[in-house]
Amino acid sequence: MYEGPVQDLIDELGRLPGVGPKSAQRIAFHLLGADPADVTRLQQALQKVKDGVVFCDICGNVSEQPTCRICRDARRDPSSVCVVEEPKDVLAIEKTREFKGRYHVLGGALDPLSGIGPDQLRVRELLQRIGAEEVTEVILATDPNLEGEATATYLARWLKPMGLRITRLASGLPVGGDLEYADEITLGRAFEGRRAV
Ligand SMILES: [Zn+2]
Repeated sequence: MYEGPVQDLIDELGRLPGVGPKSAQRIAFHLLGADPADVTRLQQALQKVKDGVVFCDICGNVSEQPTCRICRDARRDPSSVCVVEEPKDVLAIEKTREFKGRYHVLGGALDPLSGIGPDQLRVRELLQRIGAEEVTEVILATDPNLEGEATATYLARWLKPMGLRITRLASGLPVGGDLEYADEITLGRAFEGRRAV
């Protein structure tokens, strides 16, 4: 335990995902010794992300405007919607350059043990969107783990009666992992080889 502000910083850093107590301590002491200009830049970046970044009204992706860059792009195919868990998954799929449609970000996956049901995700928004837009294919690109599979199965049950082509990414993705951890080539192939469910 350190005194006041240093311990406060370690505690705050330790609350970040993937940062254990040791890393939190290392980052805190790094910042303590860092050039004040570097710390100011970090501080401003944090402030800007909270002040200037919102979630897209249509797809739920992070955006600097009420609708995101992808939803505003008229060249993107509106008939194909790729459903992902998090904004970082949009980035991972964009990197493969395999997909020219639009996205829908759920904001997580079904996880009853943690109290995350359909109402905690952007499921209603997805169904409304599909009812209102000219969507013909929905690609369920949730993570290849238990929660992701359960979410895809749940969504397929709702979407199938709507007469859409429902596909799931091909196998070959590391099972149990996050979509973002797959390399671009593997993810690109999984996209190309997507199968109907
Ligand atoms: Zn959007």
